[in-house]
Amino acid sequence: MMQRKLQWLVLLSAVPLTFGFAQFKPGLTPVAKELKDGFNSIKPDDGRKILAYLAGPECEGRGTGEPGYQKATEYVAMQFKKAGLKSVMPDGSFFQFNDFWRVGVDTKSLAISSDTYKVPTKEIGVSITGNVDVSGEVVVVYLSGKAAALGDDMKSQIEGKVVFLRNDSTTRGIERSITALGPKAVVSITSNLPVPGFQGRASDPGTANARAGRLALRPEEAVKLIPNGTDLITNPGKDSVKVSTSGVSVTLRCTQIVEKIKVANVVAKLEGSDPLLREEYVGVGAHLDHLGRRGDVIYYGADDDGSGSTGLIQLAHALSKNPIKPKRSVLFMAFYGEEMGLLGSRFLSDNSPVPLDKMIAELQMDMVGRDSDGAQNGDPNRMDKASENTDTIRLVGSKRISTRLDDIIQEMNGSIGFRFKYDAEDVYTRSDHYNFARKGIPIAFFFSGFHADYHQPTDTIEKINYDKIASTAKLAYLTIHKLGQEAGPLPKIQKSGGN
Ligand SMILES: [Zn+2]
Repeated sequence: MMQRKLQWLVLLSAVPLTFGFAQFKPGLTPVAKELKDGFNSIKPDDGRKILAYLAGPECEGRGTGEPGYQKATEYVAMQFKKAGLKSVMPDGSFFQFNDFWRVGVDTKSLAISSDTYKVPTKEIGVSITGNVDVSGEVVVVYLSGKAAALGDDMKSQIEGKVVFLRNDSTTRGIERSITALGPKAVVSITSNLPVPGFQGRASDPGTANARAGRLALRPEEAVKLIPNGTDLITNPGKDSVKVSTSGVSVTLRCTQIVEKIKVANVVAKLEGSDPLLREEYVGVGAHLDHLGRRGDVIYYGADDDGSGSTGLIQLAHALSKNPIKPKRSVLFMAFYGEEMGLLGSRFLSDNSPVPLDKMIAELQMDMVGRDSDGAQNGDPNRMDKASENTDTIRLVGSKRISTRLDDIIQEMNGSIGFRFKYDAEDVYTRSDHYNFARKGIPIAFFFSGFHADYHQPTDTIEKINYDKIASTAKLAYLTIHKLGQEAGPLPKIQKSGGN
């Protein structure tokens, strides 16, 4: 799931988690005989094998535009092919390509030096990608506690200078008040040196309006440049804002590289069995990308959204294995760039390979492999316990456009036995289904909830509840068959999926 725009301080629970998974009880409603083969073919152990690849070392966290994402797309296409799905693209492939721009830093260009000291290149971090080429006198700014915005009275001290900023404050957005005072550049002083990584853009960022980059240094390196600043950087005292001149001039350099590449959604269809209704579609999606590799750290994204991608593959095999196929066609979609702002689903929904007015519903599986735990969406008033969520899943948005979709899912759940939660409408805009909702297509977003590993390198496969992924795929399987039996489009309660 895409991170919300505003970054909040996330407090991680220090309590060790235990991962004992309750087995789902057999549902009370028996599955119709003609649907049993496919239904029973969805097995947690198959999900385990699929996810071991997608969230394993080979795919390196599936960062859009990175080699690991490329491998993941080839794997999903291979699985779709094995499941007998058909191409919907003019070139007969399972890939819907689009332009994509990788923005990074030419590490050879990195330089920070004074007359007496040159920082070794490997000791220079980049906290904001962009171009820098300035010289100026260093002013050290230290912020701590509840530091307030820097006032205009500090303008004369900061304007035209190179700010070495050590920010230990808890006040959000305070750095903006420094930028507003017109420094030539800001260098972050931090013990946690950010690794220069790549960022993805959906459009050409150009060179003219590239934003100013920001370099970063460890305190040990900073004091080698400005020996007078030792105290201020390492032992600033109790003031919440402290500004001090150094009498030292430095030169900073960093060059941004922009590389245009192609990235792809993986998309394919299972043809419906009814000669008329097969012109209509049920869409089912998951995002294949995650945060990828940053330096030596891999963000595996086992739950986010390796779990949904796994469910998508299991669903494709199950639907195609069953002798009776759904009456309406099913469009399978594994999206790129979700974590960068729902890029792949936006592109697909704006350039759909099948007519979107013939898509009667879209089901999204994003984070369906964990037992909800800890603060939900960063809210300390909504604390979940994993042990109480082994058999829960959230339905998001399923009543917004057509309540009929929610009714069908409820009914089908009679054979699964999930306990549904309807308490996560705050994430309605944060996954790919939203791009279909904005076109007025009824959607349902399956989401098992937040946990302490959300968007951390620790979102790994050994914490996954494979029963839950399989049960989600089974629920989608029954829902898709049931949607095939609907006489016409689902009755809508409003025209658009907007808030
Ligand atoms: Zn995410």
